[in-house]
Amino acid sequence: MSIAHKIEQLRSSLPEGVSLLAISKFQPIEALQEAYDAGQRMFGENHIQEMAAKAAVLPKDIAWHFTGHVQTNKIKYMAPFVSLIHAVDSFRLLREIDKHAAKHNRVIDCLLQIHIAQEDTKYGLTIDECRTLLATEPWRELPHVRITGLMAIGSNTDDMEQVRGEFRQMKQFFDELKSTHFADSDAFCQLSEGMTDDYPIAIEEGSTIVRIGSMIFGSRGY
Ligand SMILES: *Cc1c(COP(=O)(O)O)cnc(C)c1O
Repeated sequence: MSIAHKIEQLRSSLPEGVSLLAISKFQPIEALQEAYDAGQRMFGENHIQEMAAKAAVLPKDIAWHFTGHVQTNKIKYMAPFVSLIHAVDSFRLLREIDKHAAKHNRVIDCLLQIHIAQEDTKYGLTIDECRTLLATEPWRELPHVRITGLMAIGSNTDDMEQVRGEFRQMKQFFDELKSTHFADSDAFCQLSEGMTDDYPIAIEEGSTIVRIGSMIFGSRGY
């Protein structure tokens, strides 16, 4: 099935309030252009240089989301144009993003990445670490970053009840933060979760942005 057809099929299956982020890492420009021609405007990349190179040649009305691990020394390459950074997992990173966003007179939207899956990884905050960050760090004093929600990667398992439980926990935590820190902010409204293998469950459990790669583009040419 063509990329355009996949995009159309996916888009018509998503409920209102859920947006489709096309994860285009390692895909060639032509594949992104085909998705664009089918109406797709949100693309996600995991490597800053690759994202910047694609942004330079593709149409300017694309919203580029960065979904990879953020390396401090590369923030400067995306600060001029990135639309949403999905995987912020420390106050230090928020401060660095703020610093670079200021140079471009921008406010950059960020999601806090929560480590919810069973796999060991050094990325993402635990729920407790995230509570502590928001309760103790002066994130409100960073005028050039705005925290607009949470992001998570579900466990890589066939046990869909496990994954559902993780997404459910994310939604509960999102609601907790909404009432404790963001009651006055309409901008705190995004829950980025769900990939090719688990996005229907993520939607049932409250996702607002699904990040879909291989289902749209096929396997990645690493
Ligand atoms: C690669 C990737 C995706 C897309 O994964 P698929 O299984 O190909 O849909 C989503 N989110 C993140 C963070 C990724 O790195």
